Amino acid sequence: MSDELRRIFEPLLSGESESVDIGRRVFCDICNKEWTDDCTHGGFLFCSKAVCPACAERELASIRSYGEEHYIKARCPEDMSFADWCRWLRGGDNTIRITKGSLQDLKPKKED
Ligand SMILES: [Zn+2]
Repeated sequence: MSDELRRIFEPLLSGESESVDIGRRVFCDICNKEWTDDCTHGGFLFCSKAVCPACAERELASIRSYGEEHYIKARCPEDMSFADWCRWLRGGDNTIRITKGSLQDLKPKKED
C-alpha cells in the first residue's frame, strides 16, 4: 500500500470512523483497482457500487445468475471513461465513509 493510500485509509487501519475526501481519485468498489487517470470506458453502477470495466463482465454474469439486473442503476456512457463517469456520478461529493470493523467480524460464528 502506498503512503498516500495508507494516509487515506489510516482511519480504517486505526479502528476509527470518519469521512475522508479522496478528491478526484476513483477506485472500483469490487476489486479496489485505481482508475483515476485511466481512459478506459465501461462498467456500471450496481446499487451504490461502481463496478469497473475489468470486473463488469464477471459481475454481470453473477448478477444475472441471481436475477438482480434491476439493481443496475446506470451504465457508463459510450463517450466517457469509467473514471470521469464515477466523478460525474459523485456530483462533487468526493467523500467516502470509512467505518470501524475488523476481519474477525466477517468470520462466521461457530455453532455449538
Ligand atoms: Zn473492478
